[in-house]
Amino acid sequence: MRKRMVAGNWKMNKTPREAVDLVMLLKDKIDREDIDVVLCVPAINLIAVADTIMHTNIKLGAENLHYENCGAYTGETSATMLKEIGVSYVIVGHSERRSYFKESDEIVNKKVLKAFEYGITPIMCVGESLEEREDAITVEKIRIQVKKGLKGLTDKQAENVVIAYEPIWAIGTGKVATNEQAQEICHAIRECLTEMFGKDIADKTRILYGGSVNGKNADELFAMPDIDGGLVGGASLKEDFANIVNAE
Ligand code: PEP
Repeated sequence: MRKRMVAGNWKMNKTPREAVDLVMLLKDKIDREDIDVVLCVPAINLIAVADTIMHTNIKLGAENLHYENCGAYTGETSATMLKEIGVSYVIVGHSERRSYFKESDEIVNKKVLKAFEYGITPIMCVGESLEEREDAITVEKIRIQVKKGLKGLTDKQAENVVIAYEPIWAIGTGKVATNEQAQEICHAIRECLTEMFGKDIADKTRILYGGSVNGKNADELFAMPDIDGGLVGGASLKEDFANIVNAE
C-alpha cells in the first residue's frame, strides 16, 4: 500500500515573513499522519519554514539543488546545505527549470543521484507539452524522461523516488487533465518502472499528478489507481491546500 503524498510547490512566491504566516494558517488544518505532506519552498524561506513546522507532521522540501557538493556555482544550493537544515524532499526537473534553465534529462539524473547521496528524496517531474500531446507522443516523451532521469538508481532508490506527472499544458493554466488522462500516463510511468526495476519495486514507487490541482478536483484524481497524490502549485499558496491534503 503506497502512502499518499501531497506536496506544495511554492515556486518564486512568499517572502520569509509571508511564508511563516501561511504555514501558521495551514499547520493546524493539515495534521495528518496517514499522508506525507511536504512544503517545497524557495531556498530563502527554508530555515523559517523549518522552524515553523517543528513538532508537526509537515515535511520540508526544496525546489531545486545543484548536483555538485560545493564550489564555484554562484547562486546555487547544494545537497549538503539542504540536508543540514532538515530538508527531506527536493523537486527535480520541474518543467519550468527544464525550459527556462535548460535542464536536460542528464542534469536531472545527476540531481536525482545527488539528492539520494545525501538522504534527500527527489520528486522528479516529467510531462509533455500541448504540442507533444497533440502529436500523440506523450507516452514516448514521458518514458524517455523516466528512463534517463532514473538511470543508475539502486532498487531501494527506485522504490523511494517520487515521480510527479505534470502535463505542461495543465500547469498554472487552470486546465486540469481529466482523471482518465492523468491515470493513463501515471499507469504508463508505472509500466516503465516495471521494465526498469521489476513489478515489486514499481508497485511501491509513488507517482503524483500535478497541474491545476485544487480542493475540488483532488479527491477524484487521487482516487485513480496509479495516482498516489499530488504536486500542487498555485493552490498550495492558499488555504485551499488544506482541502487538497484532506481530500477523501
Ligand atoms: C506545479 O508547478 O508544479 C504545478 C502543478 O502548478 P499548478 O498547480 O499551479 O498548476
